[in-house]
Amino acid sequence: MQSTAVIVGAGHAGLAMSRRLTERSIDHLVLERGEVANSWRTQRWPSLRLLTPNWQTRLPGHPYAGDDPDGYMPAAGLAATLTGYARLIGAPVRTATTVHALRAGPQGFEIQAGDDLIGARAVVLATGACARPAIPALAAAIPPSVTTLTPLAYRDPGQLPDGEVLVVGASATGVQLAAEIHRSGRPVTLAAGEHVRLPRTYRGRDIFWWLQVTGLLAERYDQIDDLTRARHLPSPQLTGTPEAVTTDLNSLTAVGIRLAGRLGRITDGVAQFSGALANTCALADLKMNRFLTRADEWAATSGLDGDLPSPHRFAPTRVDPGTPLELDLSSGKITTVLWATGFRPDHSWLDIPVRDRNGRIRHDGGVVTDAPGLYVLGLPVLRTRASTYIHGAAADTAALADHLHTFLSGRTAPSSFR
Ligand SMILES: Cc1cc2nc3c(=O)[nH]c(=O)nc-3n(C[C@H](O)[C@H](O)[C@H](O)COP(=O)(O)OP(=O)(O)OC[C@H]3O[C@@H](n4cnc5c(N)ncnc54)[C@H](O)[C@@H]3O)c2cc1C
Repeated sequence: MQSTAVIVGAGHAGLAMSRRLTERSIDHLVLERGEVANSWRTQRWPSLRLLTPNWQTRLPGHPYAGDDPDGYMPAAGLAATLTGYARLIGAPVRTATTVHALRAGPQGFEIQAGDDLIGARAVVLATGACARPAIPALAAAIPPSVTTLTPLAYRDPGQLPDGEVLVVGASATGVQLAAEIHRSGRPVTLAAGEHVRLPRTYRGRDIFWWLQVTGLLAERYDQIDDLTRARHLPSPQLTGTPEAVTTDLNSLTAVGIRLAGRLGRITDGVAQFSGALANTCALADLKMNRFLTRADEWAATSGLDGDLPSPHRFAPTRVDPGTPLELDLSSGKITTVLWATGFRPDHSWLDIPVRDRNGRIRHDGGVVTDAPGLYVLGLPVLRTRASTYIHGAAADTAALADHLHTFLSGRTAPSSFR
């Protein structure tokens, strides 16, 4: 079987690309191992709401049209939105079709999908940046009596054994799950390494409004000084709740969640935490304040100062001097460790040499330079800081579809690509 182009993955990124290829009359298939929006159906916990506001949940040709633009969509709502979008754009999705291998072929590429072999001149990898949990090597030293869990398998606190819970990682996932598990009555310790602190709202506006209007989200990958660092920044400490509450470390300690520093080692069943928590938090406070200053400056120069509530600052993160440096995981008190230590893509099935020694695809703004005709989508800061988020797919897919179109026509890719 032959298709001009193949998109692997029918999440928001793959669907947005499908729309872009249809706009350019490029015949293509979208291969999806599950259903449309599979990640949101099978790998997200049911209580999850997007941390981006609804007005930002927009896809090419499909702005948010509901009656709650400032709300935060539940995962199931997003799955329904993406399913509707796939129907609306007539995306040629083949569900229940897992791609097991991608290799060079006579027409460009050969895709092994189940028993089928599909030839394609161009392939777009849209299998997501969060396909696997990133679990530190020290996890191997957790005593076997302790249940360990990742956010991909977490559903609700009811699935955890009775007892105390150690949540490792205080970014978007860690703070949400620590709060939810604590509400279920289980004592929670939250180990916080480097994190990005942001308030849910500032001067009456959602923080994502500020991130957008100040131009931060639009910063391009080839203009960012330390791109590697930008691509590995943790997700911001934000949650989407109907009340639009801020979920920072102060709000968590105020309800009784205990903080610890970065989990650095486990020796003989004893977890050892960094003593630098106060410094880590001070740095996160400083960076938040730097961004708020940028926001205030933008408001002043845009002439909006008078329309917005006055600038202000948030209380510094409180770190108890008695923060524990050790926790005995074999004592029986801690019964669960939840790894909220991030995610990574899974491109292990690629049978072409396009990955570095850490398994990451080498690409230039989504163009896989070592394999002409191959593209990747959905990775953090792929082309701009917005690439990390759903709304970023619109610009990324437009640029990559243009490049792909030029590639198919046999012309040289435009030098203005960047
Ligand atoms: C917990 C969590 C919360 C997030 N919250 C937000 C948020 O609030 N706002 C926001 O903008 N972003 C958020 N993101 C980031 C990002 O938008 C999502 O990760 C989003 O799902 C990425 O979309 P995607 O299309 O790139 O990948 P995915 O949605 O993961 O889609 C990839 C698709 O590829 C399929 N697939 C994978 N491998 C294969 C294969 N070999 N063969 C065939 N199909 C395959 C999968 O089944 C899946 O359907 C969040 C991410 C996580 C993990």
